[in-house]
Amino acid sequence: MGKLTPMMEQYFEIKNQYKDCLLFFRLGDFYEMFFEDALTASKQLEITLTGRDCGQEERAPMCGVPYHSAEAYIGRLIDKGYKVAICEQVEDPKQAKGIVKREVIRVITPGTILQTGALEDDKNHYLMSIAQGPRGYGVSVVDITTGEFYTTELQMQGYEKLIDEIGKFCPVEILYSEVMDKDDAIIHSIKSRFSSYMNPYPAWNFEYDTSYKRLCQHFSIFSLDGVGLSEYTVGIEAAGALLCYLQETQKISLTHISTIIPYGNTEYMVLDICSRRNLELTESLREKSKKGTLLWVLDKTKTAMGARLLRKWIEQPLVKKDAIERRLEAVQECKDNPLFREEIKELLYGVYDLERLMSKVIYGTVNGRDLIALKCSLKMLPPLKSILQDASSTYLKQICEQIDSLEDIYDLIQKGIEEEPPIGIKEGDIIKEGYHPEVDKLRKAKIQGKQWIANLETEEKEKTGIKNLKIRYNKVFGYYIEITRSNFDAVPDRYIRKQTLANAERYITPELKELEETILGAEEKIVQLEYVLFVELREAIGKEVTRIQSTAQYVAILDVLQSLGEVGERQNYTKPKISEEGTIHIQEGRHPVVEKMMSMEQFIGNDTFLDADENRLAIITGPNMAGKSTYMRQTALIVLMAQIGSFVPAQSAHITVVDRIFTRVGASDDLASGQSTFMVEMAEVANILHNATKHSLLIVDEIGRGTSTFDGLSIAWAVVEYISSIKHIGAKTLFATHYHELTELEGKLEGVKNYCIAVQEQGDEVIFLRKIQRGGADNSYGIQVAKLAGLPPTVIQRAKEILEELDQAD
Ligand code: ATP
Repeated sequence: MGKLTPMMEQYFEIKNQYKDCLLFFRLGDFYEMFFEDALTASKQLEITLTGRDCGQEERAPMCGVPYHSAEAYIGRLIDKGYKVAICEQVEDPKQAKGIVKREVIRVITPGTILQTGALEDDKNHYLMSIAQGPRGYGVSVVDITTGEFYTTELQMQGYEKLIDEIGKFCPVEILYSEVMDKDDAIIHSIKSRFSSYMNPYPAWNFEYDTSYKRLCQHFSIFSLDGVGLSEYTVGIEAAGALLCYLQETQKISLTHISTIIPYGNTEYMVLDICSRRNLELTESLREKSKKGTLLWVLDKTKTAMGARLLRKWIEQPLVKKDAIERRLEAVQECKDNPLFREEIKELLYGVYDLERLMSKVIYGTVNGRDLIALKCSLKMLPPLKSILQDASSTYLKQICEQIDSLEDIYDLIQKGIEEEPPIGIKEGDIIKEGYHPEVDKLRKAKIQGKQWIANLETEEKEKTGIKNLKIRYNKVFGYYIEITRSNFDAVPDRYIRKQTLANAERYITPELKELEETILGAEEKIVQLEYVLFVELREAIGKEVTRIQSTAQYVAILDVLQSLGEVGERQNYTKPKISEEGTIHIQEGRHPVVEKMMSMEQFIGNDTFLDADENRLAIITGPNMAGKSTYMRQTALIVLMAQIGSFVPAQSAHITVVDRIFTRVGASDDLASGQSTFMVEMAEVANILHNATKHSLLIVDEIGRGTSTFDGLSIAWAVVEYISSIKHIGAKTLFATHYHELTELEGKLEGVKNYCIAVQEQGDEVIFLRKIQRGGADNSYGIQVAKLAGLPPTVIQRAKEILEELDQAD
């Protein structure tokens, strides 16, 4: 075995520290990969595998990508589930003694990728960490593209709440303590439900004391009491591990993560993962897209920050009456003042993604154009503030106060950065005239120098009498004099020949070279100085990150409020009256999504009345296709919309705040977790029965279908008894069923009432009236609906005969 070349020794030294990553090793203008990494990357990226002498008998397998197009390749590798460590030359090769020093400057993982292509404007890019304690889990979430950082604790046995919490954030990557790997069921359960990249992390990084110290150090504080973490333990462990991971991978000071927000689950409505999906809040069930969701209906935001915040509001409805009313009052003001809204919208339109621009500032990846985008955004702040001066609602007034017009930062960019800078930051033309005397001086020298060259050309033409003598420039020779063949005789002796072409000769003179030095020297100096000034300016802006982020947050809130105001007006929504007294009374309620999707047909409004007393549980019967599911979902959505602070699709709505919404809707196989349809359904019912309270809203759409009729009926019956009983749950419930036997419960069980959706029979046909009314349905009209669905006439006819026989047998 030969000795490794020094460069390869350096390579291995670094690679050994990043064994779980593909190491992008910078060599000149390329990132090269070697050995195993090269084999993997060449296959995954479909790039040529070559070899390089490494001092051993066999050449090292090698492949590489040009550094300027590396982003796309890295994105593809991350997408395929790899981590990439970027190793750069960290000293100037000209200054290096021996081999150039190299270091890993960043590790890129799915949750820490910053490449624009990998991020969605209207979605946060969350990285989550989970710590396990004796009594529950600590869950911490960060978005490094915006600087948001949260932590919470879930005190309980079992892991349903953990799954719900993951469902709330849908993180791209989950960091979890290695010890949890032993508890295979949890990890398996997470993997089967989410596409997050699962990343086991050494247990010691979750250690409490180290985590506590790490967080204090990062936020420059002595104790975590001041940030509201005094009661936390596993929450601190999760947050500390997350920060540790970021420090290890990002290797920058992460000043944009300027605070940590602890949140309890008492501030928000609890929504389990099934309900989130079933109610199609931000993702539709079928297409997994935004279209057809509540977010789709409510999103008229103008900024990326607003769009992300609206998503968060929808994912976390409030439960405090005051907080909800504060939002509603502001939405009302936006709704009632179209002019005010228009003005705000127009200004918001000019605001770029301040949060992500600031993270680029902190990461040092911002360019001149980004700073101009930042400047244009900041320009909108003073007029926004001035429009808000006239606002009368408390929230809008508060936003007005909290928006910092950031004029100092605007001025800095206005004075310092060219209006149309290039993409690169190392090629000059980025610093504005008048910002720095030295730049101006050098630029003048450059311009004058060009004039000097022009003068010299005229002079030389006169002296030599060669009319077509030209002074030109190229990168190899610099400036030179070019003379065509026909004038060779007139070339003076003082010209020094440099190159002979077919039809011309190229010369230099000492005078020309002197000029060249002045001109090129100035150019090189300008480029260097402009870069230094740009970095200084970037750092000055970076120091103001907290101020900018805070303003960005208020701009986002304003954007969401105006969006809700706009939708409220356009869709003819009404302001819900919020109470805590236990009654939900909706008149002429509509389904926000179905109504918007309907083109010709008119949506038919329906009332809902549920209270804590006589009307706790509504048993809803009616034929297939009558509109039961739509009706129940619309009730849940109206309550949820009210609790995010939105107006609602109804003529009037009195909404009591609910602590949770549970839905048991439709049947879905969970094959990944090895459960049958019936098992999934029963697990969902069990979850409801264990966790619902009398303040919850339950939507139960048919249970017991997946088993024999009598088993199913018995289960449904027992569940109704349990839910309606104040002793057990007593929650407000809409319970749709095809078991008409359940309508017998009205009068027998306290709080149970029958409802049905009206249909009209016309001969053999059924007409859907879509109106909910008191009483039970007498017929399922299953065969008529099957006919509408296109079952062959022979089958329909035969079904009718069998039904008749069965009826007679009864
Ligand atoms: P099944 O029992 O078969 O699940 P269902 O009673 O739950 O049926 P839905 O799925 O709610 O019926 O409704 C069927 C269709 O009827 C909906 O897709 C919608 O287009 C229409 N619809 C429902 N409610 C209304 C309404 N209030 N106004 C107008 N159209 C409605």
